[in-house]
Formats: sequence, structure tokens, C-alpha cells
Amino acid sequence: MSTSTIPQHEVVIVGGGQAGLSLSHYLQAQGLDHVVFEKHRALHSWSTQRWDNFCLVTPNWQCALPGHPYAGDDPHGFMKKEQIVQYLAAFRKSVDAPLREGVAVQQIRPAPGGFVVRSSAGECFAGQVVVASGGYHTPIVPRLAERLPPSIRQIHSADYRNADQLPPGKVLVVGSGQSGAQIAEDLHLAGRQVVLAVGDAPRCARFYRGRDVVDWLADMGYYDMPVTQHPLREGVRDNTNHYVTGRDGGRDIDLRRFALEGMDLFGVLEGLQADGDTLRFAPRLAEVLDRADATYNGINASIDKYIAERGIDAPAGAPYVPVWQPAAERATLSLAASGITSVVWCIGFAPDFGWLDAPVFNGRGHPVHTRGVTAVPGLYFLGLPWLHTWGSGRFSGVARDAEYLAERIAQRHASLGAGEPLRARPAHVQLQAALA
Ligand SMILES: Cc1cc2nc3c(=O)[nH]c(=O)nc-3n(C[C@H](O)[C@H](O)[C@H](O)COP(=O)(O)OP(=O)(O)OC[C@H]3O[C@@H](n4cnc5c(N)ncnc54)[C@H](O)[C@@H]3O)c2cc1C
Repeated sequence: MSTSTIPQHEVVIVGGGQAGLSLSHYLQAQGLDHVVFEKHRALHSWSTQRWDNFCLVTPNWQCALPGHPYAGDDPHGFMKKEQIVQYLAAFRKSVDAPLREGVAVQQIRPAPGGFVVRSSAGECFAGQVVVASGGYHTPIVPRLAERLPPSIRQIHSADYRNADQLPPGKVLVVGSGQSGAQIAEDLHLAGRQVVLAVGDAPRCARFYRGRDVVDWLADMGYYDMPVTQHPLREGVRDNTNHYVTGRDGGRDIDLRRFALEGMDLFGVLEGLQADGDTLRFAPRLAEVLDRADATYNGINASIDKYIAERGIDAPAGAPYVPVWQPAAERATLSLAASGITSVVWCIGFAPDFGWLDAPVFNGRGHPVHTRGVTAVPGLYFLGLPWLHTWGSGRFSGVARDAEYLAERIAQRHASLGAGEPLRARPAHVQLQAALA
């Protein structure tokens, strides 16, 4: 290929979600040439990968995308799916990013002076690359799913829309993180009989001492704490999100209460016996429920301490007292005998950065970086959970991270000879020679 036909960009951003567009906002402010490659439609995950009754878990005031803070009349409410989509459509308009939709990045490899980016639209050269392709790539479904009877309908949480999607009969929901707990509740409220394999996810209260727990934690500085100061350090990136909901104005999700109302709770799903019908569960339902409650009470206790130390006038609070206990641990369940006709897998997603050909991954395939900056000069990540703070992978913290990366990118751009066209730079001349 002739070098003159290779498009050149100072910065290529992979992914047109809120992270990619946030970065574009700041790169435009820096006056830096860039392009955003998005393999589907910008911001599509909020309309294509959320269930019908989805609403934010985080309060509206935490929707703080750059130049586009939440401006509605319900800052302490929780936007529903359609409202989120509208909020994001307005954000997209305000950023007006140089977007290339329907362009999938298929390979990025370092090259002298930058990176060669191969996409479904051809090849280009980028001085710097930002991976903003999200943290939820490949839906995780365990191998035992292959051995379930074909009569059982199986879907992943990413494909769950509503109860009507599933055949009549009991639904097995596997996993009780944010998605699993909310989908189990959605089915339960729709009158479906739910069997829930409860996982290790922690939970937290929606409201405590007269306010949303998020408001207290914000005052306590939790959302400004960098990952380097978290007690778990980078280990916190592996944590499952606490389950709680914003539905109907926000409330706790109490699985014990669901059990009282008829939901059938089991421990962690561990396997399927050779008969292809009998599910095996870890006989520690009581333990996982207790642990989730301990986290719930622990967070509330930290709020109590904060209130006491400052002498804040707030209504009294009390520790959560379990409203239900499992009568006995059950380790097996027959799919046929129990009447389960469908399974919703809510056990998360695996990262897929297979198209990024750069030595920046640890043994588990997770990128290694400091605040999004990798050891490969000019290569960055944005939008990942706890990239820098709790809000890095959410609406609340991505702006801060994007602004930081835009500054780093501008500094590198300046140090490499800002003002000169890319092709005039010595390193890039080498690349052109290599590609010619
Ligand atoms: C079920 C669920 C509920 C959530 N609830 C909340 C909440 O209440 N509050 C909150 O603040 N956050 C919430 N989040 C977290 C977060 O806000 C979202 O995950 C958000 O979508 C992250 O934005 P992003 O831009 O980082 O990634 P994404 O939205 O995933 O965007 C990445 C984009 O990259 C594109 N892409 C990927 N690979 C390529 C490629 N090779 N080439 C080109 N394009 C590519 C994708 O098509 C996608 O559009 C939730 C997440 C989930 C999954």
C-alpha cells in the first residue's frame, strides 16, 4: 500500500461509548486531531444491552459527563432506560465527536512513532491510541450450559429484556450481582417463580440516616479515593458490584424478603450432575447472605461514624436484622422436577482485547496501567472499573479520567513535535518506509 493513501490521525479512540465521547470532548478542547471508531452505534450499549425496566442504580446527580451534567428536576432520582438514552443523545450532540460508526477495530500494533490501526474500514496510522471499548465484552456462560436439556431456554443478562421473553415455568437466575439481583427482582415483580443461585456479591442500603447512601459516601470522599489508596489496591477492580436498585425511586434489594415472598434461594451454582438434570449448589446460602448483610451493615456503620464525628443532625439508624433464614442448606435441584424452563446467566462478562497487539496485559488478560497510562508510550485505557476511582467505569468519574488522559496525550503530542504534520516526524517517516 502506498504510504500517501494511509489516513493519519494524531489520536485514535476505540469505542464510542460515554468514555470515548468524553475523551473527544477534552481532545477538542486541546485542539488535537482525533477520530472515534465505534463498531456499532455510539452509546448503543444503553439501548441494546439493558432490560426494559432498567433504571440507573446511581442517582441522577452522578451523571456528570463532561460539559453535560444532569440538568433535570430529579437529581436524587434514577433515570429509566429511555431517559438515559435521551440524556446520552443530548451528550452526543453536545460533544459532536469525529465519529466513525460501524467501524470495528480489528488490530492495533505499535509501530515506529505510533500505531498501525487496522479496522473494517481499512488501515490508518495513529500517533496515540486510547482504548475506550468498555469493560463488558464477552458474556460469561459456564460450560455446563452446553449440557442442559435443549428444552431449557438460556439467555445471558445482556440479552434479557423482560419476563415475557421466557417460556412459562420457573426461571433460574444464576448470580446475584447488580444485574442478577435486579433481573431476579424484575421477574419476581412480574409474577414469575424465580429460583435464584445467590453468588458472593455484597449489598448496600439505598437510604440510611435520612439520605441516599451514595450521598453520604460522596460527602465522605469515597468517590474521590484513588485506587492506590483503596485497602484492596488494584484488587478492588475484581470486586462484584453491590446490589441495590434505583427502581421506583430507589430501594434496597433484600433477597431474604424475596424468599419470604416465594423466591427460591440456593447457594452458588457449582455444577450439573452426569444425568444432565440435577444442578449442584454450594451448601452455603446462609453464609453468602450473611456476608452480603455484613457489608451492608459495615457501610452503614461507617456512615454512623462519620455522622458521630461531625455531630451531624441526622435521623437514627439501626443495623439490618435478617427477616429470613434458610431452614436448611440444599445442595441439589432437579430441573425437571422443579419445573425450571429457562435460565438467565448473570455471572458477568470477560474482557476481550484480542485485537490489541501490545504487551500491556497481565496473565488474566487485564490491562496493566496507571490511571489509564500503559507502559507502551502513547497507548491508554479509559472507562474501566476503578481505572482511577470508583466512578471511572461509570457516569460519575469518567470525565475526570478523560480530562487527565487528554492532558497526557497533549503533553506527548507537544513533546513529539506539535505543529508538524505527523508524516514529518522522523519516527513516522520510518513507519512509512516500513509500510511502503
Ligand atoms: C447492566 C449495567 C448497569 C449499569 N448501571 C450503571 C449505573 O447505574 N450508573 C453508572 O454510572 N454506570 C452504570 N454502568 C456502568 C457503565 O456506565 C456502563 O458500562 C457504560 O456503558 C460504560 O461506558 P463505556 O463507554 O466505558 O463502555 P461502553 O458503553 O461499553 O462503550 C464501549 C464501546 O466500544 C465499542 N467497541 C468495542 N470494541 C470495539 C472495537 N474493536 N472497535 C470499535 N468499537 C468497539 C462498543 O461497541 C461500545 O459502543 C452499568 C453497566 C452495566 C453493564
